[in-house]
Amino acid sequence: TKGAAMVTAVASRVQAQRKQIDEVLALFGLAHEQLVGVQHKMRAELEYGLKRKTHPLATVKMLATYVCGMPDGTEKGKFLALDLGGTNFRVLLVKIRSGRKSVRMYNKIFAIPLEIMQGTGEELFDHIVQCIADFLDYMGLKGARLPLGFTFSFPCRQKSIDKGTLIEWTKGFKATDCEGEDVVDMLREAIKRRNEFDLDIVAVVNDTVGTMMTCGYEDPNCEIGLIAGTGSNMCYMEEMRNIELVEGDKGKMCINTEWGGFGDNGCIDDIRTQYDKEVDEGSLNPGKQRYEKMTSGMYLGEIVRQILIDLTKQGLLFRGQISERLRTRGIFETKFLSQIESDRLALLQVRRILQQLGLDSTCEDSIVVKEVCGAVSRRAAQLCGAGLAAVVEKRREDQGLEHLRITVGVDGTLYKLHPHFSRILQETVKELAPQCDVTFMLSEDGSGKGAALITAVAKRL
Ligand code: BGC
Ligand code: MG
Repeated sequence: TKGAAMVTAVASRVQAQRKQIDEVLALFGLAHEQLVGVQHKMRAELEYGLKRKTHPLATVKMLATYVCGMPDGTEKGKFLALDLGGTNFRVLLVKIRSGRKSVRMYNKIFAIPLEIMQGTGEELFDHIVQCIADFLDYMGLKGARLPLGFTFSFPCRQKSIDKGTLIEWTKGFKATDCEGEDVVDMLREAIKRRNEFDLDIVAVVNDTVGTMMTCGYEDPNCEIGLIAGTGSNMCYMEEMRNIELVEGDKGKMCINTEWGGFGDNGCIDDIRTQYDKEVDEGSLNPGKQRYEKMTSGMYLGEIVRQILIDLTKQGLLFRGQISERLRTRGIFETKFLSQIESDRLALLQVRRILQQLGLDSTCEDSIVVKEVCGAVSRRAAQLCGAGLAAVVEKRREDQGLEHLRITVGVDGTLYKLHPHFSRILQETVKELAPQCDVTFMLSEDGSGKGAALITAVAKRL
């Protein structure tokens, strides 16, 4: 009977622990009504950003891009493109041929060391120009004065297609003396400092806009660009008459929403958890980009890590031992989350991944870690879906349509690599915007190709 009592005691302890774990996971579950709430708030913030009166204080900035139309297939020429702000920095040569609509690309990936991302602006732009010089050498193009499109994936206030003032850095960047400056000027000055070659900088483009343009080249229904990667953002074609800050009422212009800032006024605090707050406080830009911090690759792993630390403190994981590794910021990159959540992976393999990350886990631990990852990425996909539902519904209503068919061009490591993110995102949009028929189109190399296409259009006009 003593043995039986012990078995019962162990069983009830296991049960109590399970309950504690479930309570934490439940914080990440969003009911249909909560998602509808997020959708409606996003819709309201989109409208604030567009209106002259509310724009200055809007958290969703709704930035004019001066991109007013899609490529029509007559674009042609050789272009350089830069892609800064995603997982990699790249320099590309893009050759566009009209008629057959063929695009050929050559690119080189360069690392941007942390001390340059977070050093001075001059160092950052000198480094970029150094990379361009290497690329031109490599391609044998040093003498050519090619038109250049600069994909710069940060919020910029634009007065024309070739001017963009950086509002503030996001993600992992924090170079000094850049905020409030024109990024095209900074690039031009760095080229001048080097005094080796000249380039014709024609356009500065957000990655969402490049992605939309690339997909729009093949599908004219593509009027939305979405990035679910290191960061999170969306752009879409808006009626000029609704954009109060830009003169003119005819036609459409692409708006870079910068929806990552959604929630910075506290409007979604009811669904933010203590873990979200910890991630925010430990980030380079506390208080900023709250929605981005719940939905993008740079932060999901950090949320997971905060939960794991808490569960360990409660004695529910890793034998209650918080290892140095677990205390290390940034260990769960998107690729690890994606691997851990893959259904094809046996638990033993999950344990092996954790091992690689320096986390010693039991079989039970690995089950819990996988559940935590699932809860965090599921919420991210649902939130992103609720945001997207707000936009497609707005477009449907603005056009007075019973039914809207629209294509979303998508890019980003989270969307592309994660085993469930894209499916849950799509399901959520269907659920929240049933009168919209939304097609998702993966963009192949959207930012680079898109920057070249926009440059080509700008050159032609
Ligand atoms: C930036 C956006 C960008 C997004 C995706 C965000 O942090 O503010 O400009 O589009 O990341 O790269
Ligand atoms: Mg990118």
